[in-house]
Amino acid sequence: MTRSAWSLVVLLVAAVLVAGVAWVRAESDTPAIAAPESFSLGKLPRALAIELSDEGSGLRTATVTLSHARGETVVFQRSFTGNPLSGGGPGSAELEVSLDPQALGLAEGDAFLDVEVHDWSWRGMLRGNLATARIPVSVDLSPPRISVRSGLTYVRRGGAALVVYRISEEPARDGVRVGERHYAGVPWPAACPEGDAGCRIALFALDVDDTSDTAIRVVAEDAAGNVATARFDARIQERQTPRVPIRLSQRFLEGKIADLSDAWGLEAGDRVAAFRTINEERRRQDEARIRELVAQSRPQPLWKGAFRQLDNSKVTSLFAERRVYTVGGETVSKATHYGYDLASTAGAPITAANAGRVLFAGDLGIYGDTVLLDHGLGVVSLYGHLSSIEVTEGERVARDQVIGRTGATGLAGGDHLHFAILVGDTYVDPREWWDPRWVREHISVRMNP
Ligand SMILES: [Zn+2]
Repeated sequence: MTRSAWSLVVLLVAAVLVAGVAWVRAESDTPAIAAPESFSLGKLPRALAIELSDEGSGLRTATVTLSHARGETVVFQRSFTGNPLSGGGPGSAELEVSLDPQALGLAEGDAFLDVEVHDWSWRGMLRGNLATARIPVSVDLSPPRISVRSGLTYVRRGGAALVVYRISEEPARDGVRVGERHYAGVPWPAACPEGDAGCRIALFALDVDDTSDTAIRVVAEDAAGNVATARFDARIQERQTPRVPIRLSQRFLEGKIADLSDAWGLEAGDRVAAFRTINEERRRQDEARIRELVAQSRPQPLWKGAFRQLDNSKVTSLFAERRVYTVGGETVSKATHYGYDLASTAGAPITAANAGRVLFAGDLGIYGDTVLLDHGLGVVSLYGHLSSIEVTEGERVARDQVIGRTGATGLAGGDHLHFAILVGDTYVDPREWWDPRWVREHISVRMNP
């Protein structure tokens, strides 16, 4: 071949190569944008997560612009590393777009976020494929207004109370905050005389160990994250917490504690150490489990009127006793007793204290075979140390229905029923709920005045 013929071949091959590269580099895969369908912005700065991906040449630039009544502001801009010749931008990225309504000078009303993303393709006059998304943003700078409707509220340490309040807008989350604990509120139009839709109630409780300066507030948060709190007149009543020494017998240590150690794979040998592990560590685990279960309580009350104490039973141990366990005169462990011990004949039938739904039926560690009944609105009753269980999870039970038999399973020295009531995360004195007058005056009258 002549020299010019060779040049032509080389030129042709080069042209094919360039065309091939151009065909690959001018890919038409547009980037994908995953973002919330809408967004609410309150008084406080809030971040919005946007996920980007591109299957072709990779991500090149991302720009987010906020259009609002007073103009347009670019609130986010990023260029991704890549190469004009070979592409090679990242296949995915997660953007966190922070929006500070004060810094942006936003007014209340509707706004839009426009997301624009380019990739490293040669399309679009070498600017890349363009993807866009528009996210409606509602700017709401006013917190909900709360007005507490119930008057002076008495609540005992280790006791419960109900508060009635109105919220000016539909809350995303509301209820009563006691210290760091939250008790969820529910809509309850009947509690306000005018029966309006913003009326709500929340049951709350004071822990036995709450101090008299524990803050109690109604809280409400709207969809935009604006939070309001309202104080109300709550009077805290004191409670006696008697110290009860309990001497651990050799029979108990070599019998029950040895059995539980075997069952739970604890170090054999030192029975006192095993007792301490069971009474402290195992108790903590079991209590955490109970709180997880209580969190599933239904928002509507299933109970009616006062709760009922087990028939023909004798109280052998009270709520809020400070138990101090001793061996040979030495204190080896402590625990607060958050229920009542009720003794009857061995294997006596246990009845539901009120109408509810079986939240749990099975082995619950130190409580042995246990039934938890959900009565709704965060109220749960617990029946521990059972010898047999006669209900199944999810089942609806009527008040006085037999749910099992008394026994001595778990950490129990003899046949009895351990009965407890929780309001949310907090154990409360069952005596309040057994008392028809207390239930009427503190709960029912406020729910249905
Ligand atoms: Zn007990």
